[in-house]
Amino acid sequence: MDTCIFCKIANKEIPSEFIFEDDKVFVIKDINPKAPIHYLIVSKEHIQSIIHLEDNHQEIISKMIFAAKSVAEKFGLKGYKLVFNVGKEGGQVIDHLHLHLLGGWPR
Ligand code: AMP
Ligand code: ZN
Repeated sequence: MDTCIFCKIANKEIPSEFIFEDDKVFVIKDINPKAPIHYLIVSKEHIQSIIHLEDNHQEIISKMIFAAKSVAEKFGLKGYKLVFNVGKEGGQVIDHLHLHLLGGWPR
């Protein structure tokens, strides 16, 4: 889908630093961070949202969670939030599956 910004980033049509990448997902810094540390774990495949998941997407979701864990470890986070905004009513603005990793607050 050529109008989707995360597809453009996935296809390198828009340059962006990948903090982490495997065959199913990549991780970028959120452009407008809502926490001291805010990354987005994004599926390489265009899937609109959690609502649109099908049985064959289980590996993608699993790899998203493990990518988040790996990035959190890399940045030494001892605790963090993982958030999927789901659909317009759930606050989702970009209609391409992504998981927010939020952390770095002082304790
Ligand atoms: P959501 O509300 O769950 O759809 O979140 C979309 C997130 O993408 C927001 O936190 C935005 O700040 C972030 N965002 C939008 N455009 C970009 C971009 N080009 N690179 C990185 N993050 C972006
Ligand atoms: Zn897309």
